[in-house]
Amino acid sequence: MAPPWYVRSTDVRLQAIARAVRDDYPDWLDHVRSAAACVRPVRLAGAIATVEADTGRILSTVSTATMPDGVIYKACGNRRETVCPACSQRYKGDAYQVVRSGLIGGKGVPEQVATHPAVFPTFTAPSFGPVHTRHIKRHTCGRRASCDCRPEPCHPRRDAAWCEHGRRLVCFARHADSDRALGTPLCLDCYDHDAQVVWNLQAGELWRRTTIAINRYMRRLARERGIPDVQVVTVRDGKVRVRSVAPFRLSFGKAAEMQRRAAVHFHAIIRLDGFDPDDRDAILPPPAGLDAGDLKAAVDHAAGTVGFTTGDHPARPEGWPIAWGPQTLTKLITVAADGEVTDGMVAAYLAKYATKSTEITGHASSRLNDDTIGVYADPDGTHTERLVEACWILGRPSDWRRLRRWAHMLGFGGHFLTKSRRYSVTFTVLRAERATWQRVQNSGPEVTEPGEEPTTLVVNFLQFVGAGWHTTADALMANTSAALAREHQQLARTDLVALAA
Ligand SMILES: [Zn+2]
Ligand SMILES: [Zn+2]
Ligand SMILES: [Zn+2]
Ligand SMILES: [Zn+2]
Repeated sequence: MAPPWYVRSTDVRLQAIARAVRDDYPDWLDHVRSAAACVRPVRLAGAIATVEADTGRILSTVSTATMPDGVIYKACGNRRETVCPACSQRYKGDAYQVVRSGLIGGKGVPEQVATHPAVFPTFTAPSFGPVHTRHIKRHTCGRRASCDCRPEPCHPRRDAAWCEHGRRLVCFARHADSDRALGTPLCLDCYDHDAQVVWNLQAGELWRRTTIAINRYMRRLARERGIPDVQVVTVRDGKVRVRSVAPFRLSFGKAAEMQRRAAVHFHAIIRLDGFDPDDRDAILPPPAGLDAGDLKAAVDHAAGTVGFTTGDHPARPEGWPIAWGPQTLTKLITVAADGEVTDGMVAAYLAKYATKSTEITGHASSRLNDDTIGVYADPDGTHTERLVEACWILGRPSDWRRLRRWAHMLGFGGHFLTKSRRYSVTFTVLRAERATWQRVQNSGPEVTEPGEEPTTLVVNFLQFVGAGWHTTADALMANTSAALAREHQQLARTDLVALAA
């Protein structure tokens, strides 16, 4: 047994020795396995009780005090790649399943959704001032992941005027993808930081109005083509009411992406389904006579026409106009590989953005308050410092407090991955599926007969006692064991494939 001071040593090697010489080391490795790859697992202490379902009688309890370290380690579950690579990888896998099952079926979604018309539009923000950009006119590379095509010059204007701050708004550079100048304004003082953070704040509302406009457009098309409405009959207080509703339903999925200039933009999936008022939860085939081309026309129409003006603000009594930028791009999704994009590409694309946040802009912080705002905000500072500053200053009136609340997100207060209720399977279902699977893995086959209600329940009485590993060595050893386990799985898979061949 190592002397106890080894554990408290700041030397990782001594910490590791202290852990490895303990009698319960193999148990510890086993115990932490479900959270082993996590950077900052949650530590829970308390008791886990097995309860008889009918009577509520406690059959047995296990205290975490009897477990290695006296706690249960639970993975943090953070979706952000920069916060926890392992948990974000798992989240990304779930996101992929959620998006993809909405396109090809599976996980409780009927497989015939694969035949429903679907489009993949990208909605961008308008310009708030010229920024350094990297644009490749025509790709000649084979794989986009290893693209080495030559970008166009950034802002190559020969006749550009000087701005009022004495800067020429030109840039002849062909920026490399890693260039930190990308996304930053040509003139920080000309740039409208106020308008951009307000736009980010309102992007969710703009999206909501856009979905309404797309629905209206499709409804009008359906009427023009003689596709009959669906009659919904309701009885309330003895009165019968008949209402005409659209003969279709649109399902939406969307991922938000923070661009380098720190304006948010949306990648959406819009799928056309049928609608039966007697079976509202069913995902049904759409009515004949509406296709993906119509959906695309509806999206383009909505993107070009939807807009509104925000409420007044002391700094801008007339409010800010909120609309999409001119570069909305809509592609048709097909399941066969003959369309513009395939279901797999779209799902992978959306899942990728689901694990990102503001990192690309160079700003990363948690929620800001009066004490921390000074670290990140500066009216004469960098691009993102000015955006944070704009959030804080404009967020002073009570009607605009949300700007302060979301200052660390540069104004954007929405979720990074959202979907309408009937688009597909939910994250919760996927997690429950995995939990059941893990339980079967851990304890052998369930004792309950198939089809029977479980007779016992497991109830947790656990308290949060801390986050993170006890020592750097613990983190390293747990992570390494997780990496080895992954490698093992990979090897086993390779062996199986070789065996099958
Ligand atoms: Zn984690
Ligand atoms: Zn440039
Ligand atoms: Zn290329
Ligand atoms: Zn200027």
